[in-house]
Amino acid sequence: MGLYYMQTLGCPKNQVDSDKLEGYLEAQGYASAPDADSADLLVVNTCAFIEAARQESIDTILSLAEHRRSGARLVVTGCMAERYGDELRDALPEIDLVAGFGHELVPASTSVPVSLGATRVAAATTVPGAGFDLLELPRPAAHAPWAYVKVAEGCDRICGFCAIPSFRGKQRSRPLDDVLAEVDQLLDAPTATDAPPLREVVLVAQDLASYGRDRTGPGRAARTTTGTSGRPSPIAALTRAVAQRVERTRLLYLYPSGLTDELIGAVLDTGVPYFDLSLQHVSRPHLARMRRWGDGERFLRRIADIRAAEPDATFRSSFILGYPGETERDHDLLLEFLAAAQLDWAGFFTFSNEDGTHAAGLPDQVPPELALERLRECAELQDAITAAKRDALVGQTRQVLVDAPGRGRTVHEAPEIDGVVYVPDDLAVGDLVDVALVASEGPDLHAVPVDALAAVSAGAHTS
Ligand code: SF4
Repeated sequence: MGLYYMQTLGCPKNQVDSDKLEGYLEAQGYASAPDADSADLLVVNTCAFIEAARQESIDTILSLAEHRRSGARLVVTGCMAERYGDELRDALPEIDLVAGFGHELVPASTSVPVSLGATRVAAATTVPGAGFDLLELPRPAAHAPWAYVKVAEGCDRICGFCAIPSFRGKQRSRPLDDVLAEVDQLLDAPTATDAPPLREVVLVAQDLASYGRDRTGPGRAARTTTGTSGRPSPIAALTRAVAQRVERTRLLYLYPSGLTDELIGAVLDTGVPYFDLSLQHVSRPHLARMRRWGDGERFLRRIADIRAAEPDATFRSSFILGYPGETERDHDLLLEFLAAAQLDWAGFFTFSNEDGTHAAGLPDQVPPELALERLRECAELQDAITAAKRDALVGQTRQVLVDAPGRGRTVHEAPEIDGVVYVPDDLAVGDLVDVALVASEGPDLHAVPVDALAAVSAGAHTS
């Protein structure tokens, strides 16, 4: 019927949407094009997180528009389509359809690409969202032995720098059974295709620790920091249920106040002691300016608690430098925190002044060059910490999941955002293999299978 080409920008949550849109297009009879030039339908799933991401989205749109073959349709979806749909339609006549969330890329009632040229704006604004819920679209087979699973859309928090709630809306959690059905779909899919077996599920949401709170209603159990109410919190229940189905369950984006004892226990019980804490800063007055919870001391205590229970636990976080009002004292506190926390991984971003956010109107904006200088200082410190943490793993034995020929991950690395473990090319993709970690190289590690080492050692003894 036709070939589609999908280009995805932005975060893992966008990748999930793209996977589902691909499954949807394939259910309509489209096949994946080997490259953009041969596609009948080009889809750009955009990111609107910060200015740099928007620019990358626009550059991608323009590049695909320039190289598409004659007659091919160009559809723009994702966060930019939702947030700046009118501006995109006005500024980029190359686009055939701007489709925000809940808008179909092609009409379900027809089996050919929609003729959009003449009715571009009307199509974009009149295609109903009802019945086209991205969250609940069927899931095609994963291309790797791991997959993101999005469990909620939107966010109920009011972080001063963040525009996401303004265009993704309030949190809308999927029912537990629907999420588990998607995991089952992913697990069953490899039997029908040549995809590798699914070994790892990475749960994502804007505010993952709050999963299900919008569904539980009054009496919301386990909302305390200890989670001792007797009823399992939705995120802990979900974590345990997914972990019963698949070898690895990993959680990304945990708002620190949501990290209850109960959730920590559930994560540790999965066997993937990986904690991605969305901290953003550590200075209490500065976090208050950001309209966020917590402070460095509390964060350090939580990290120490987890390390006491599991010394091998891995920690990741992200931080914003140059949010309005950030003082030298705030910055020093962040540096002190990084040195004390010894996180395994951390990402640093300079503040991006986003339309419609609380921060956009705040006084004491930090000059961009100062924000960048602070970022470099943090990154330099953290790079050394990360490298030392990776060095410390050399000589130890771990299990790797082979993601691709020659490349795998232990439980210490999340896919796509952390370092990798290089393994021999002949290990089968999707296998879980016990390896000895033999060398480090910045954030990455090199490993050899334990079996191979044992064979070499036996050979040495018999020779
Ligand atoms: S928790 Fe995340 S998505 Fe929600 S408002 Fe804060 S930064 Fe934005």
